[in-house]
Amino acid sequence: MPLYKDEGLVLRTVKLGEADRIITILTRDHGKIRAVAKGARRPKSRFGARLEPFMRASLLIATGRSLDVVSQASTLGAYADGIVHDYDAYLNASVIVETADRLFTALEEPSPVQYRLAIGAISALSRHLHDPRDISESYVLRALALAGWRPRLDACVVCGEPRKPVAFSIPAGGVMCATDRTPEARRIGERGVTRLRALLNGDWTVLDAASGHNPDGGTDAATPVDHGDLVEKWAEYYLERPIRSARLLDS
Ligand SMILES: [Zn+2]
Repeated sequence: MPLYKDEGLVLRTVKLGEADRIITILTRDHGKIRAVAKGARRPKSRFGARLEPFMRASLLIATGRSLDVVSQASTLGAYADGIVHDYDAYLNASVIVETADRLFTALEEPSPVQYRLAIGAISALSRHLHDPRDISESYVLRALALAGWRPRLDACVVCGEPRKPVAFSIPAGGVMCATDRTPEARRIGERGVTRLRALLNGDWTVLDAASGHNPDGGTDAATPVDHGDLVEKWAEYYLERPIRSARLLDS
């Protein structure tokens, strides 16, 4: 079987047969792939924990007739360690991998830029660099923007004037002024728009100040600027299916 090398982030795994697993991997150069890891569920598997969700691995893969087969895997980033023991980090990491999974079902081309964005978000979560929800929401907005769904935040989507935004319309793709707002648009204030802009630009100075996140891992009770589930709904609308992990976040 022909072999190829790549690196990838494990998005999810499912059991196959007695001892194998099918691993869904977001790769840098081959987009999203599914490959069998033979014997991965045996206690002494040669893969160990290297092919668990949220792990980043260097891979040697054999092209199969129906499914590819993982031939070798070595760890490049053991991000799962910092994620699976922290419920908030875990839920938000699940939103990230689910969004990446969904997005790469829609995208046909591999995208090293998308790959780096996902790696950056999972790595930041595992190191508790920022508020976990900020990390996942920023990832979702940026990944969708890269794919072509960038919300317009600088001017009203109807008149194009940079007037004071009063609402945000998901189907129309951005903010609206008081004159043009449509009934389905959600109310949003200046602070909400500032937050969305910071999430979209990955402006962590603004986001950390708003969430009260400090690098020691604690979060001071600052007044959060809440935009509800706007980011989740944005992703749902453009990816056309509810994001399961996000449901858990709201409960
Ligand atoms: Zn307008």
